[in-house]
Amino acid sequence: MTDDSPPLLQGCSGKGHNRLPGQQEGGWAPRPCPECGKLFEPKVRNQLFCTTTHNTAWNNRATVRGRVLAPLSMVASITRNGTRGKPEDREAGRAAARNQHFLTQRWRDEDRAAGRMEWPEYMRRRLAIGFDPLG
Ligand SMILES: [Zn+2]
Repeated sequence: MTDDSPPLLQGCSGKGHNRLPGQQEGGWAPRPCPECGKLFEPKVRNQLFCTTTHNTAWNNRATVRGRVLAPLSMVASITRNGTRGKPEDREAGRAAARNQHFLTQRWRDEDRAAGRMEWPEYMRRRLAIGFDPLG
């Protein structure tokens, strides 16, 4: 068997590399900062935020929320929102699902009032630059 397949691209994932050959780093289209909503010109391909200050602000808030949300999400998911498992576990699952839902709505509303990016758009943009939550 002969190998007549086209040569593989080397050293390039092919993801988001929108520069022409020889073009300098930079020059990516302006994108909105999730924290402040302002358009900025990224200095590197995978830059999500306009400044490290805004990156830190977003991530610190997500960390604080995550500490509360992670256990609720675990229990809600494991009990399928309180429809699986022992009766006492189902009750805990229903409470977890309720609280998770309530907090998610509260934080979504807070974020909207503060002019932050909607969460689905944030996740889309993160995935587009190579974010892998399972990696
Ligand atoms: Zn910003």
